[in-house]
Amino acid sequence: MRRFWSPAFQEMRPYVAGEQLAIPGLVKLNTNENPYPPSPRVLAAIRAAANADLRLYPDPEGQPLKQALAKRHGLAVDEVFVGNGSDEVLALAFLGLLRQPRPILFPDITYSFYPVYCQLFGIAYDNPPLGAGFEIRIEDYRRDNGGIVLANPNAPTGRALDRTALRRLLQHNTESVIIVDEAYVDFGADSVVPWIREFPHLLVIQTLSKSRALAGLRVGFAFGDSNLIDALRVAKDSFNSYLLDRLAIVGAVAAIEDEDYFEETRQRIIASRARLTRELEVLGFSVIPSCTNFVFATHPRHDGAKLQAELRRRHVLVRHFAKPRIDQHLRISVGTDAECDTLLKHLADILKGISP
Ligand SMILES: *Cc1c(COP(=O)(O)O)cnc(C)c1O
Repeated sequence: MRRFWSPAFQEMRPYVAGEQLAIPGLVKLNTNENPYPPSPRVLAAIRAAANADLRLYPDPEGQPLKQALAKRHGLAVDEVFVGNGSDEVLALAFLGLLRQPRPILFPDITYSFYPVYCQLFGIAYDNPPLGAGFEIRIEDYRRDNGGIVLANPNAPTGRALDRTALRRLLQHNTESVIIVDEAYVDFGADSVVPWIREFPHLLVIQTLSKSRALAGLRVGFAFGDSNLIDALRVAKDSFNSYLLDRLAIVGAVAAIEDEDYFEETRQRIIASRARLTRELEVLGFSVIPSCTNFVFATHPRHDGAKLQAELRRRHVLVRHFAKPRIDQHLRISVGTDAECDTLLKHLADILKGISP
């Protein structure tokens, strides 16, 4: 079957992204995309840059974007790294920082790309289990390790760690790198970017894909001590010197600079999340209080996989993970209020046994 493949790839199990179906009228709540368009300033900047300069290579360091990010967070440019989506930034961090003799640690239930990077780069890992309420038990990370990766808020649970717990861990665990993946932080958790000067072993990773409505542009970034950022640069320059193209750089700069639009759409999603949570609870679901742009919900009398399949038949996509402990849950991205209403209407029908 896999004739000619590299030996290490015979057993490679890649990450499986949520499906991207092209059906008219589809309600797509399965990949945590933003339901609103990107800032109009982003589209204008990209249009203006779609010119003959595309014959030229982009700035290899994405310098204009690093400057915009450094300015927004009050950091130096050498404390910022940018890449083609935070997935790529994470991959370079696993490669450049986490290939250690000791196993790295991340929770049993978290972003399912982390074990894939470990397999890809031959990194050993251990998975301290989440507690009964799907909370990260920070005490479990107080042990010898080659690095720690925590998504905060965590996915797919939507729960956030409090900053006090994270601070204690950073103070205690000083001999290995701690990566905090803040893909969803703008929807309701506290960022630890302001701490990177205090903790030279802290790398914080963020993305434009969720809160800036730019999943299609593929831009992610990292903040940390210049020593950590330098490891990412060496990993990048040993792999692909130009991670961000010219259009992505100008579009991302415009996104970072449009603070008003960001704030407005972010607040709208937070309000819709509260409403969606309430309405799901009325239907009998239990919903983990979410700090993200998705909710994680389970129904006491209806199987998770069946609900997902029934919704799909009705052209509503949500995410289901056939994994121990969470196979009765649905991860539902917060759409517009109209999209949430369509989802809720179909769920109500499914629970009542009404066919489409
Ligand atoms: C979506 C997501 C990412 C990746 O986002 P990119 O689109 O690659 O920037 C990273 N971490 C978590 C936890 C995510 O949910």
